[in-house]
Amino acid sequence: MTMFGRPGCVLRVAIAIPTYQLFDYLPPASVEPEKLRPGARVRVPFGPRTKVGYVVETADRSEYDPQLLRPVAEILDETPLLFPQDLQLLLWAARYYHHPIGEVLQTAFPAPLRHGGKLSAVVAKGLSLTETGAAVDLGRLARSPVQRALLERLRRSDRPLTLAELSSGMEASRLQHGVVRRLLTKGWVRWVDLPKAAAVSDLCGSSGEHPLLNPAQSQAVEAVTRSFGRFACFLLAGVTGSGKTEVYLELIRQVVARGEQALLLVPEISLTPQLETRLRAGIGAPVAVFHSGLSESQRQSAWLGMQKGEVGVLLGTRSAVFTPMRKPGLIVLDEEHDRSYKQQEGFRFSARDVAIMRARLAGVPLVAGSATPSLESLHNVRRGRHHLLRLPARAGNAVEPRYRLLDIRGRKMHDGLSEALLAAMREALAEGGQVLLFLNRRGFAPVLICHHCGWVAQCRRCDASLVLHQREARLRCHHCGVEQALPPGCAVCAQNDLRPLGVGTERIERALQRFFPDTGIARIDRDSTRARHSLERILDEVRRGSVRILLGTQMLAKGHHFPDVTLVGIVDVDAGLYSTDFRAAESTAQLIVQVAGRAGRGERPGTVLLQTRHPTHPLLLCLLREGYRGFAAAELAAREAAGLPPFTFHALWRAESRTMEAAMNFLEKLKQALESEGKEISCLGPAPAPRSRLAGRYRAQLWLRSSRRMALHQALEVGLESMRAGRDRSVRWSLDVDPVDLY
Ligand code: ADP
Ligand code: ZN
Ligand code: ZN
Repeated sequence: MTMFGRPGCVLRVAIAIPTYQLFDYLPPASVEPEKLRPGARVRVPFGPRTKVGYVVETADRSEYDPQLLRPVAEILDETPLLFPQDLQLLLWAARYYHHPIGEVLQTAFPAPLRHGGKLSAVVAKGLSLTETGAAVDLGRLARSPVQRALLERLRRSDRPLTLAELSSGMEASRLQHGVVRRLLTKGWVRWVDLPKAAAVSDLCGSSGEHPLLNPAQSQAVEAVTRSFGRFACFLLAGVTGSGKTEVYLELIRQVVARGEQALLLVPEISLTPQLETRLRAGIGAPVAVFHSGLSESQRQSAWLGMQKGEVGVLLGTRSAVFTPMRKPGLIVLDEEHDRSYKQQEGFRFSARDVAIMRARLAGVPLVAGSATPSLESLHNVRRGRHHLLRLPARAGNAVEPRYRLLDIRGRKMHDGLSEALLAAMREALAEGGQVLLFLNRRGFAPVLICHHCGWVAQCRRCDASLVLHQREARLRCHHCGVEQALPPGCAVCAQNDLRPLGVGTERIERALQRFFPDTGIARIDRDSTRARHSLERILDEVRRGSVRILLGTQMLAKGHHFPDVTLVGIVDVDAGLYSTDFRAAESTAQLIVQVAGRAGRGERPGTVLLQTRHPTHPLLLCLLREGYRGFAAAELAAREAAGLPPFTFHALWRAESRTMEAAMNFLEKLKQALESEGKEISCLGPAPAPRSRLAGRYRAQLWLRSSRRMALHQALEVGLESMRAGRDRSVRWSLDVDPVDLY
């Protein structure tokens, strides 16, 4: 290679495999090395095959023998799809979370691009049924189950499906392309060009009707607009229904009018339809949506719309935070306190913290809104890092709900419902209101116990009891997903008296049907909303009023408006009061306030009843007397005294193996390596994880903390170095920086 030695002639490439290193390649002979810019995707020879890689940097020379370097097989992007800022953000995230760089980079791309799709070729093709295909008697295909499954899927779908959609959930080996080819040859299916994916609207909804902002809203908007064009973080704290969303919408309108783009992040898919409608109605620019409930081609067109600058707003969940933006102008994080912003597996990033870094790199303002701000953000306000914007009252005429504790000690309970709660429900219904009951536990009962000997149905693979799902007559593990039919009797004493212990949403639903036989009741949890569009259907019935009692898990706590709900019942407050997780108090308070916020959002005031056996619990009293603000101040003081986040910095090193001993030994060695090095960190453990066995594997963890962030990160580097030295393949480990979940 004659050009070796010229500047920029070695490409340092990240590949999506679990390694921290970059791989050196030469540019293809035909390409001017100057043309290769960081961020571009390339196809590189790797072992016997080729892989998609991402150029991270170019270098003058390699540490390896130049004779051994291989040229890149193909350049996939002449112009990188990632803007320099985006690449910078991803590299920062890889360093900060100590996660393999190739895996971090690939999270920025939608699947087709990740797999090496060229931009020109990504006009999506889909398979659609022909008339003959639609008429085939599926019974005849008993011997060709894959063909039959594909035909069934196409029949159930109201539009053509891409190959990826068609095969999703199937084992890869099952969908050989041969099967599709056979269907094509038989004339049962054909390829069609997919219409422009529905994720991007063509409508530039005119800036239509929107309420005149009240003074607090206007002040908030002005504060942020003054920061347009530079970095600043705002915490928009406003009770539920105070009009935060109207503030976001006005800011987005203004950003779009400047010719810039906005990124609006929400914690949950279920929140996107309502917001999407409001966005489309009045932003004055195309809106795109990005979340895991969309097809790959929809996600890709949203992503590209943003990258090309055709889209004004991207509304998305966690993973949308890395979408390239041609002209970034504003980032909004709705419900910033929500734990779903933290990815809990693989690349464990916090979309909230990444968004802040992104705003900083892009030099744009970030607005984080919540009725129940995270303690981290409140701490940042105190340190002067975030500006606090307050919306003190509900918009319009609605007033805040009243709280009342229902002391249920010694009271007669009916499937988890006290008579006082039932009476209040009857009264609210008689006055024409709707009732919302909240219980964060799905299924019929969390435990099935033998009344004769006390045996409890346990998961074989986890240290957890199996949850009874009565309607389907099954026992399910909510941790690993294992399920089985209801046993006829006790596995130990063989007696025939198994009884459900405790209450889940399914059980309450049945009790409600008994107590309110003539009232429309709907349950919202992951079981009842599994089918497509079922959540929207239920919400619609609630809005139309045919459902008067709404019962559900935390899916209910978020973002929805139920203007006619006048009574909220929190069935079991106590579950959140006692926990090994130091964040439990914070999340319980947030949940209570969020659920309560669903009540009385219309003209009528709402009441919130909390069933508890601990009516004098300090958390409850503080929350009821002083509201979330008072609670948060007390909790921050307690965290500071205990040296917990946000006053100290944490990481959790998890290990799992076939035996607890192996996992513990692994972490013990790691601990020695860490302690020999740093004095500024302390290690707690190793100890078995709170859920010490999951899916058949034993889990242990080592908890690291430091009062200096840099010291923690240096220690983590030392730890990772020691991992590289001694590989133990029987132990799987992971590293979680700023963990929010200690399980
Ligand atoms: P949040 O996002 O804080 O929960 P929203 O922005 O959704 O609050 O507002 C709650 C309700 O109040 C919505 O129906 C909204 O249309 C209405 N609203 C918001 N701002 C105003 C205003 N300035 N005047 C009248 N109604 C408003
Ligand atoms: Zn028994
Ligand atoms: Zn299990």
